[in-house]
Amino acid sequence: MRSGGDIISDPAASKPRDAVWSRVGIALQFNGWLKKILIIGSGPAAWTCALYAARANLSPLVYEGAISEENRLRGTLPLGQLNATTDVENYPGFPKGILGPELMEAMRDQALRFGTRVVTEDVVSVELVPPAFHVK
Ligand SMILES: Cc1cc2nc3c(=O)[nH]c(=O)nc-3n(C[C@H](O)[C@H](O)[C@H](O)COP(=O)(O)OP(=O)(O)OC[C@H]3O[C@@H](n4cnc5c(N)ncnc54)[C@H](O)[C@@H]3O)c2cc1C
Repeated sequence: MRSGGDIISDPAASKPRDAVWSRVGIALQFNGWLKKILIIGSGPAAWTCALYAARANLSPLVYEGAISEENRLRGTLPLGQLNATTDVENYPGFPKGILGPELMEAMRDQALRFGTRVVTEDVVSVELVPPAFHVK
């Protein structure tokens, strides 16, 4: 398991409560747990979203995808497309360039530092019916 991954049994995660439902409006439920923000994927877009959400005390949960042979063959392993390349020359802040995997691990670490929680699994279905979005 990756560090910071799989928090399904984490007692600190928030459980469904009526008060939360009414305050949030639309809520996200996965495996019986309630979250305000659930992010699917673990490329640059996901970690950027997680970083800003975590710093806003929104306790985001990232489903980063599974480390599986199927995802390897499809090119959809965790950490996104940049994790599969070498030199990245056009990201601001890296005048000498940076290796793709190094950049993506740094994005993940930065999001974790502010309390982002991570599940190293694929999302297999989403049900987008208010007031609660159900994610499995
Ligand atoms: C070889 C290569 C080299 C590149 N080099 C550069 C470069 O030098 N500079 C540059 O700016 N851009 C480069 N790009 C493009 C860059 O990688 C993409 O623009 C960028 O990764 C898009 O980020 P993203 O977060 O939108 O999505 P992605 O990086 O595509 O990430 C998608 C994420 O979704 C996850 N996912 C998919 N399905 C599920 C599911 N069901 N459940 C959970 N997770 C799921 C995947 O695991 C993945 O983590 C390169 C791309 C490639 C392939």
